[in-house]
Amino acid sequence: MAVTDNLQSISHPDVFAAGDIATIVNNPCPKAGVFAVRQGKPLFNNLWQILQEKQLQQWDKRPRLSPYKPQKRYLSLIGTGDGSAIASWGSLGWESPLLWYGKDWIDRRFMAKFNN
Ligand SMILES: Cc1cc2nc3c(=O)[nH]c(=O)nc-3n(C[C@H](O)[C@H](O)[C@H](O)COP(=O)(O)OP(=O)(O)OC[C@H]3O[C@@H](n4cnc5c(N)ncnc54)[C@H](O)[C@@H]3O)c2cc1C
Repeated sequence: MAVTDNLQSISHPDVFAAGDIATIVNNPCPKAGVFAVRQGKPLFNNLWQILQEKQLQQWDKRPRLSPYKPQKRYLSLIGTGDGSAIASWGSLGWESPLLWYGKDWIDRRFMAKFNN
């Protein structure tokens, strides 16, 4: 879906999208979890603002929508399948088994949040 900086569909203003399905027309970013997760807060805020506006029928008031600003640099870690991993940050790259332990630790910590 093509969306504005506010994650609002450019063709259907009542529809919002975030994550892999959304392409921010002015500021396209890679389809990666780090971007999908950070779009959550502005998505929630914007849906809330639109719903409040509709409930109160404040048609004269413009909803205060929050833009999502993707970060320019982000850390990528990819496992190579043999106990090692490659990290990239901007134009820098590094491969090491230590990075695999780091990635495994990050991923496990993230998944543990869903245990309850
Ligand atoms: C193999 C692989 C490894 C990856 N590794 C990383 C990584 O290490 N780091 C990282 O940052 N990103 C990684 N990514 C990318 C990351 O997974 C995605 O960017 C992220 O999951 C996007 O989140 P999302 O919520 O937009 O979409 P998704 O996580 O794809 O969620 C969409 C959900 O909608 C459901 N769905 C689809 N159609 C319907 C329907 N019609 N009705 C109801 N439900 C539906 C799907 O089942 C799914 O649960 C990886 C992707 C892949 C494929």
